[in-house]
Amino acid sequence: MKQVNGEKLLASLGGGVKDLRGRLTPDAPMDKVTWFQAGGLAELMFQPHDVDDLVTFLKLLPESVPLTVVGVGSNLLVRDGGIPGVVLRLSAKGFGGIDLEGENRIKAGAICPDKHIAAMAMDNEIGGFAFYYGIPGSIGGALRMNAGANGSETAERLVEVHAVDRRGEKHVLPVSEMGYSYRHSSAPGELIFTHAVFQGYREDRATIRAEMDAVRLHRETVQPVKEKTGGSTFKNPPGHSAWKVIDEAGCRGLMNGGAQMSSLHCNFMINIGHATGYDLEYLGESVRQRVFENAGIKLEWEIKRLGIFMPGREVRPFQGATTE
Ligand SMILES: Cc1cc2nc3c(=O)[nH]c(=O)nc-3n(C[C@H](O)[C@H](O)[C@H](O)COP(=O)(O)OP(=O)(O)OC[C@H]3O[C@@H](n4cnc5c(N)ncnc54)[C@H](O)[C@@H]3O)c2cc1C
Repeated sequence: MKQVNGEKLLASLGGGVKDLRGRLTPDAPMDKVTWFQAGGLAELMFQPHDVDDLVTFLKLLPESVPLTVVGVGSNLLVRDGGIPGVVLRLSAKGFGGIDLEGENRIKAGAICPDKHIAAMAMDNEIGGFAFYYGIPGSIGGALRMNAGANGSETAERLVEVHAVDRRGEKHVLPVSEMGYSYRHSSAPGELIFTHAVFQGYREDRATIRAEMDAVRLHRETVQPVKEKTGGSTFKNPPGHSAWKVIDEAGCRGLMNGGAQMSSLHCNFMINIGHATGYDLEYLGESVRQRVFENAGIKLEWEIKRLGIFMPGREVRPFQGATTE
């Protein structure tokens, strides 16, 4: 695994780091963060204690240092050369809270698991959140990619997002400013979401329980939920299901090194034990190539790919790719 000089970056931040209450880890292994359990090192990881600590850190950090925020890593493919600069991982203590906020409203921290919102909503007879029960990510990840399932998505329940920008300035964005579309937000990429407010509606507990049970049962039947995976690898192309075009191109079960397209759900890529970031990304691009050749469809990655390649192990986008 490539060492990325985290100690040097830490030293360059100067004595101000002594005022921070969160944890700084040079050369932090990202395979401990991602659900794929693969990928290189984060040059420097910072886990802020709370929002004020985050703001203090951002004011110390020169603008020239790249900054990447991650949630719980359930939608991430980290390349083997690691992630240059700082990786921000929000602490559960400072950013994992969840509270009721007015009638059928829920306020949740960005690292709060989606499942906790579903459970809390059920306990309080608030409808509209059962779909979160099946999504293994955090609210920050859900806000960034408009996570959704079972015909519902984040944008429908969201009221506003609280965020901090690269300079440590705080912002509140109403849902209308999040620029949502299918699995996408056009909100500025530099924003670090800290918490959000959601609106549900009155619904009885038994109905919500039944919805959540259905979500769980469906997932356990059709998805490799116990594998090391990143969820859906590609977005559904307009008018098609990604899994179907992947299947038709003969890619169900396709392997590259330690990576495989799941036989159970062929839009899920899995690490079958020893996959590198290279194995996973190369497999993904091979699938895109085959689908393009078979059906003329250009699959778009849903999984977020972060970091740099290991020298000599670069993965080129498939031949039909235009802009990435
Ligand atoms: C088994 C399985 C099933 C899944 N099923 C679904 C599904 O049905 N529907 C669905 O939508 N997704 C699904 N996913 C994908 C994933 O759970 C969601 O995309 C989730 O929203 C990602 O959240 P995360 O915390 O893991 O984010 P990460 O994977 O850590 O990060 C994803 C993106 O969000 C950004 N991000 C994270 N936190 C913040 C923050 N605080 N501020 C700004 N940006 C942030 C990151 O920079 C990155 O770009 C599934 C994944 C798995 C493994």
